[in-house]
Amino acid sequence: MAWKLDSDIFKRYYTDALKSISCCDLCGANVSNSYLLGYSLSQALLCQSCVNDLPYFNQSLIAGNLLNWPAVHRALPNIHFEHLFALSPYIYPFNKWLAQMKYLGRFELANLFSALLCAQWQVMNKTITPIDLVLSVPLHIKKWQVRGYNQAHLIAKSFAGTLSLPYDANLVVRVKNNDSQMGKTGSERRKNLANAFVLQGKLVSHIKHVLIVDDVVTTGTTASEISKLLKQAGVETVTLVTVCLTLPNAKKNGGVHGKL
Ligand SMILES: [Zn+2]
Repeated sequence: MAWKLDSDIFKRYYTDALKSISCCDLCGANVSNSYLLGYSLSQALLCQSCVNDLPYFNQSLIAGNLLNWPAVHRALPNIHFEHLFALSPYIYPFNKWLAQMKYLGRFELANLFSALLCAQWQVMNKTITPIDLVLSVPLHIKKWQVRGYNQAHLIAKSFAGTLSLPYDANLVVRVKNNDSQMGKTGSERRKNLANAFVLQGKLVSHIKHVLIVDDVVTTGTTASEISKLLKQAGVETVTLVTVCLTLPNAKKNGGVHGKL
């Protein structure tokens, strides 16, 4: 009897605890169930109103490819991928979430980003050629050892799993432990990243369209270096999928943030 009582107390405590954490990450409203085009966001703790208010790029204006937008195309010269899909400019709440995931280890945000990316991706990219393989931008092992995880890998794994696409976390290896890319121009970044990646093993011949996932894209140089390697190995098309796009010269290029 005593055990049953304890068990009941535990159950009630546990249910109350669950209720208290089931509130929207942005507005604090209770979240019982929220869905975005069939993708459950209940675990991501975001209410439906806040989902509807997220500052997405207007994908329909650019047919789901940010490279169709001249300001973005001008800002990303010398890239080796054909398609760029980003959810949002690097603004609130995405900038806050990405920082929390990277520096505070909020791993559950990978599922939120994945659900939002999948929902937008399926609406906008129905006509795109099938994806043969999903990759993520790798960290150098030393950086991985310090941080303990790679946020791009967590998002990519969840994204590929949700869309039932094959994912390979080990094909691309970062062999050069570069200085931070922050504050560097496109050409400085290209120099910094030259020979930074290698392909581990061979790509099977049917792999023609590869999708690379990253958390934030600034100059596209990192994904472009990986794309070059993939193209040398026989890949024909590379699509870059990212949560946020932040351009180094956004103002000069027509105020990219929040305009599209
Ligand atoms: Zn909310």
